[in-house]
Order: sequence, then C-alpha cells, then structure tokens
Amino acid sequence: MSPEADIIREPFVEVAIPVPLRRLFTYRVPEGLELRVGDRVAVPFHRRKVAGFVIGGRAEPPEGVTRIMKVAGMLERDPVFPEELLTFLERAATYYMAPLGEVLRAAAPAMPKGAMKRLREGGFLAEGEDLAGKSVGRRVELFATRTETEPEKRLGERQQRVLDGLDGETPLTKLRAIEPSARSVLKSLAKRGLVTLEEREIEDELFAEPVERDSAPTPTPAQGLAMEQLTGALEGGGAFLLHGVTGSGKTEVYLRLIDEARAMGKGALVLVPEIALTPQLVSRFRARFGDDLAVLHSALKDRERDIAWRRLRRGEVSLAVGARSALFAPVPNLGVVIVDEEHDGSFKQEDGFRYHARDMALLRAHRAGAVCVLGSATPSLESFENARRGRLTLLTLPERATKRQLPPVEIVDLRRQPRSPSGESLLSGTLHRAIERCVDAGDQAILFLNRRGFAPSVRCTACGKQVECPACSVALTEHRRTRRLRCHYCDFQRAVPTRCDTCEAPALEPMGLGTEQLEDKLAEVFAPARVARLDRDVASGRTVEAILDRLRRREVDILVGTQMVTKGHDLPGVTLVGVILADHSLAFPDFRAAERTFQLLAQVAGRAGRGDREGKVFFQTFNPDAVSIQAAAKHDYEAFFRAESAARREHLYPPHGHLIAIRVDDPNEERARDSIGKLASVARRYTADRVELLGPSPAPIGKLRTRYRFRFMLRSDDRPALRKVGAAVAHAIDEGVANPSRASVDVDPVSML
Ligand code: ADP
Ligand code: ZN
Repeated sequence: MSPEADIIREPFVEVAIPVPLRRLFTYRVPEGLELRVGDRVAVPFHRRKVAGFVIGGRAEPPEGVTRIMKVAGMLERDPVFPEELLTFLERAATYYMAPLGEVLRAAAPAMPKGAMKRLREGGFLAEGEDLAGKSVGRRVELFATRTETEPEKRLGERQQRVLDGLDGETPLTKLRAIEPSARSVLKSLAKRGLVTLEEREIEDELFAEPVERDSAPTPTPAQGLAMEQLTGALEGGGAFLLHGVTGSGKTEVYLRLIDEARAMGKGALVLVPEIALTPQLVSRFRARFGDDLAVLHSALKDRERDIAWRRLRRGEVSLAVGARSALFAPVPNLGVVIVDEEHDGSFKQEDGFRYHARDMALLRAHRAGAVCVLGSATPSLESFENARRGRLTLLTLPERATKRQLPPVEIVDLRRQPRSPSGESLLSGTLHRAIERCVDAGDQAILFLNRRGFAPSVRCTACGKQVECPACSVALTEHRRTRRLRCHYCDFQRAVPTRCDTCEAPALEPMGLGTEQLEDKLAEVFAPARVARLDRDVASGRTVEAILDRLRRREVDILVGTQMVTKGHDLPGVTLVGVILADHSLAFPDFRAAERTFQLLAQVAGRAGRGDREGKVFFQTFNPDAVSIQAAAKHDYEAFFRAESAARREHLYPPHGHLIAIRVDDPNEERARDSIGKLASVARRYTADRVELLGPSPAPIGKLRTRYRFRFMLRSDDRPALRKVGAAVAHAIDEGVANPSRASVDVDPVSML
C-alpha cells in the first residue's frame, strides 16, 4: 500500500490500541473523516484519548455491543505503516501472542511533534496540514561568532576553551564536542560582548565526518560461490545461513549482495547487534554506498529516528542499518535482509513486545520475497539445525579472507597453577609470561574479563552477608573509581559503606575480580606498559571508538575489557588475547550457557593475530574439559554443535523442542505467587501428552526492580500443541485471571533469569 491506499468505505473501523490486551477495538468513522489502513488516529478509551492504528473497516459493530464511540481524529496525514510492514507485524503479533496495539507502538516512529497536544484536544487535521511532514530533516542550530572585543577580566577555563574553539561562524554542535556545557558558556560570553549568537534553521546533516568511497575487492573463491547462490535468489527470495570464521569476509559478501539488489532497484535491511553498530561498521557501508543510508539504533533521539524512518518511508533512502528494532524499518521494495552475528542474544527483545529479530527477519523476508542472510562465525544451534534440515541454505567461508590462520589457543588449567608471579590468582604464570613477552616485543594484548567494576561483590567477613541491592535479589558491585556500590540490573547506587548493614562490623571486603581491579593490577605489575580499559563504565558510543583508536595508534599496550572488546574490531597490533576466566558464563542457570560460552570464546579468540604477526590465545579455566571450552580452543564449531545438539535433544530443548515461558512480575510477592499458580492451573487443564509444564517457581533472580518474579515453562516438540496451551494461558490473562500488565507470555524465550 502506498500513501494513496484505499479509503475505508465501511462505517466502522477496527483500531489497535497499545494496551496489554490481545484484541482490537471498534470505533465509528465520523462524517467527513477519510481513513485508511495503517493510519494513526486518536480514539477515546476509558475517558482518555489514546493513539491507535487503523487495522481495517467493518460493516457491522461487534455482536452485543450497542454503544460505539467515534474516532476522535487523525494524527498523521499518511498511513504510518506500508502494507508489507503492517501485515508482517500482524503475523508477528500472532506468532508471539502479543497485543497488536503494543506491537505497532513498538514498531512505529515516535509521534510527531504537536500530535500529543492534538491528541489531548481531539480534532482533525486541517486541509493540507501534515504534522509528520513538518520540519523533518531540518533543525534549528545556534551559531556563534567571535567579536573584535577583547576580554577585560580573565576568562574562566570553560569560557576560554569555548572561545578558542571558535573558528569563524561556528555551530553549537561542534562546540559541544569541546565543552558539553557550551550553550550556557556561549550565553555568558555573549553577555560580555565577546561573541554574537544567531539561531538558524538548517538541513540535518546525516553524518559528521565524510568517508572516502571504496570499491569491492575481487572476491575469494569461497565468497564467489556464496555470491552466486545469493544473487541467484534475488529474483525469487531465499533464506541462507552464512557460516564464516571471523575475518572470513562475511561483511564483504553482504556489501556485494546489497550492491546487486540496489542495481535491481531493491531496498536492503541490515541488522547487527547493538554493540557491533560502531562508526567503523557504518563507515564500511558509507564507503561502498555513500550517505543515502538510514542508521537506526537505541541511542538515537526520537527526532533522529523519526527522520530516518520517514526518509525510508518516502523512499528517499532504501538501505537501513540498525540494531534489533530496525527490523521494523519501512525499507521500500525490500529485496535483502541481513542479520549479522545472528547468534547474538541482543536480537531478543526482553520486555514489552518480546520478539526475536532474527526469527522475524526470516519471516519478513519470506513474506516480501526477499533474500535473507543470517551470518555468524558461531551460528545459534537453532540456525545451524535449520540449515541441516534444509530450511536454510548453508554457505560456508572456511578461511580468513586475508589468508591469516586462526590463532592457536592454549587452555590454562587454573586448578593446577603454581602461585602466580603477581600474587593475583586469576593471572596464571603462563599468561603472565605471555603478556611480558608480548609487551617486550612491542605488540599489544587484550585481556577479557566479563565483569565490570572493581569487585563483583562486597562481603562482610564477620557475618558472611554480602551487600545486596534493595530493589533486586543480587549483590552490588563495587566501583572504586566512583567509590560507589552499584546494581548492574537496576542501576541503584550507594556510597561504599564502612560497616556491614546486618551486623555492623567494620569488616566489609571486596570479593572477586572486576575489570577496574584488573586494570590497576596490570598497570602495577607490567609498568611501564600502558593499560586501558573498555567496558560500559568508560565507554558509550563514541568513546568506544576513541579507545580503539588509541589502540590502533599504539598508545595502549594492554587493553582490559568486557564483551565490548570481543566484537568485530579489526586491531592488527593485537597478538595476544587472554581470557581471564572462561567459565564465567558457564555457571548460568540456563540451557544456553554452554552455547554462550562457546560463542564468546570463539569471538574473543578471533581478535588475535589479525595483522601481519601471528597471534596466540589463552583461555584460563577451572573446567578445562568443558566441551564449549575445548571446541572453542580448536575453533571447531561443528564439534561443539554435535555435542551440544545431542545434549539438548535429550531434554527437548531448542532446537529439538520448543518453549513458551509464562512470567509474572509483581511488587507484591504473595500476589505474584498466587497469579502464577492460577495461570499454571489453566495450563495444566490444557496440557496434552506432548506438552510439559516446568514449574511454577521463583525466577533465578527472584526480585528485580522491586518486583517479585515467578514463572513456568511450557515445553514440547509439538509446536501446535504447545501453542494451544500458550494461547489458553494468554486468553486467561486477557480475562483477568492475572493482571495483564504484570503477566507475560514469552514465545521462544531466551532469557532464563
Ligand atoms: P567478517 O565480516 O567475516 O569478519 P570482513 O568482511 O570484515 O569479514 O573481512 C575481513 C577483512 O578481510 C576485512 O579487512 C576485509 O576488508 C578483508 N576482505 C574481505 N574480503 C576480501 C577480499 N575478497 N579480498 C581482499 N580482502 C578482503
Ligand atoms: Zn537492583
């Protein structure tokens, strides 16, 4: 459907409203209002007005309903969703047993400026008025120019910095990079007559820095074979799994495929994990295709996302690159959908509309007749099994594109280590000496530890209690740089106490090792080597690149980091990668713990030796025999797949069985327990032979953000039978057996916490 979609002729419309109920609501079309499917409208709902989406026309009101209210007005001139996207979202809502109104709200761009006010007041759009079209792509910028006046008094440090940053007429955005409070500083400078200020509306620039265009290198034979199959499917569509080790040239394959699709006038959608959406990756797309590219991620402001969305919707841009929610981008004439690092857990949305962007990418591409490519060095068990069953065509890139071998990995058994030279038990003699050699040779090392902060917990040595978050049933992490204890789940913070909360003994001690502490330790032990840290505490968005740039410029010898260091970065000077504790993720109460461990280790190992010099990797572990660790050390995906797949088959875990999780989160513990019990009884009534009910029980994290969490799991290898039980529970929730805003249905759950 184009914006010229058909006007609904029926007297009633069905509207999807963002409330946690799995149903639509019927409204009367007022005289003179022309509505189309996909329109965003204001409708009265429980004495309020809410924004909803028109789903279709209806000749008669629903049976038994006598009083039907009128649509209050239109909020946007053109239908927000094109037909391809709307019908896809309806299917997705059905699959996930999610309320369509909530699905559409999650997928739609923010409401245009002025529409909220309009919503409160009701009313129609005036002839020719378009709230959405207004000022999209333009914004007001403040420009500052230095006057000839010389300062009489000495300037403050920030004032001087901003003044020095002025270069002719300078936009505020540029000065903010020098001084975050530039706006107020400029105001004070203007008062003293040192600068003149002017506000002007300007065209939004898509990207700050220009990127030099490149062209595609000659494909390797393996890339050539993959390309042949992929381009062959551009006419009729197809689903593929591109399995290639890190650095095997998968991204290059995506770029070529998109190029072919564009030549045919087709649009493309690329999904990457949030963490991989670095300027470096975006630059590669811009270098190949120019700046007609919509980048979508969660750090965007509503306005920026809005601009990107509407550019796509109007067909001005046909390529979108983004994280999970970019799945809903209105890419015109969709021809290619790519999910890079398809195994990544961040593709699963864990609240509100719970969906898996990888699975839905396959659905969307299938419905649009597009080519879908799932790419990974360590495919999820689900995807690899789908390839084995022929549902995905397997394409393999077995070698690094640059002919560099994957680095050898040595497993260090932490149970049998003599006292380590540094005194830190998690820094074995073997790894210690390897770091020494690496630094002495002028090479760089990455040490991976998946725990940020100074110490993961603080314990009282008198009574044994650890300091917990008041809102969650988890230990607080000590952050010594900021002298705070912090909850990594809800961001609660408090000063580090001097006495135990429980027994008041002044006996609190940090327990365990975090990245902050490791950074200090390494700086001390390997001085004068330069140590830097990369984790969420030091790095957000732009600073990640800044730290990696320092590494590339050889201003850093040793980088300590969490998962952030494992993704996609090409760092040619790194010859040593050390995993401080490979077992971390193994201990999780989750059937995917081994898979995550394998993926993480394989990815980390791929970071070493990407340049001219050979790399070496160490995995330190207390479980040297774990299959995930052994297989990752040999870079042997298939060995891991065979072992893990067999283990899952035994318990009917995915990919051999299917799961639906039912959860209740409630601030009242008794009510939560009661609700989950009632829902479990409903499930039991419908549970057939082939469907198992596991639980109900408290979740492993029993309390999160002041809510008590209970759940049960439905498991079966018979998907229709399983869905029947899930639907019965969903129906019970809609009927009020449990509070619909506290109970949730999670189809194909990922998080077990
Ligand atoms: P992956 O996405 O699998 O990690 P990339 O596409 O990033 O792999 O490729 C890894 C490196 O190899 C990049 O620097 C890329 O530019 C280079 N590369 C990829 N394909 C080729 C090719 N056909 N010829 C030369 N270099 C290539
Ligand atoms: Zn908390």
